[in-house]
Amino acid sequence: MTVPTITVKRCTKCGETKGVDGFYRNRSKRDGLSTHCKECDRAFSSAYKEAHWEERCAKQRAYYEDHREELRAYNRDRRALFGEPTTERWREITAKHATRRGRWSEAEDAHLAASTDRVGDDALALSRTYASVERRIARLRRSCVALARDAHRR
Ligand SMILES: [Zn+2]
Repeated sequence: MTVPTITVKRCTKCGETKGVDGFYRNRSKRDGLSTHCKECDRAFSSAYKEAHWEERCAKQRAYYEDHREELRAYNRDRRALFGEPTTERWREITAKHATRRGRWSEAEDAHLAASTDRVGDDALALSRTYASVERRIARLRRSCVALARDAHRR
């Protein structure tokens, strides 16, 4: 990882000069920092999310429609393989099988949005831990993503 060697930097968006801690790290940049200050980056990403919210939800639903049977069959197989475990058991099983960490892909989010299975099934399907799937579901709820698992509550 690039270690910033400068102490101040000028934001190319608002033009203000700020300390390097006023910029997010960005490995693709030569100095290891974003060209926009944190405030400008944040303003951009929330405006972007707002503008693309409906598009994202539509995409997620479309993904579910296209992969419904596939997703169901996959989860059925996993259930046949591992039985009907309790939450504690799920935590153990999914921890053992978790191979993925870090950033969530759009396909993974779409899977969670479309899934009506239990958290443990989803964790296995995505090769993540029970806890991280639980956290991600909570996060999707906070960002107003329509979750199939919540549909019956409407
Ligand atoms: Zn700025």
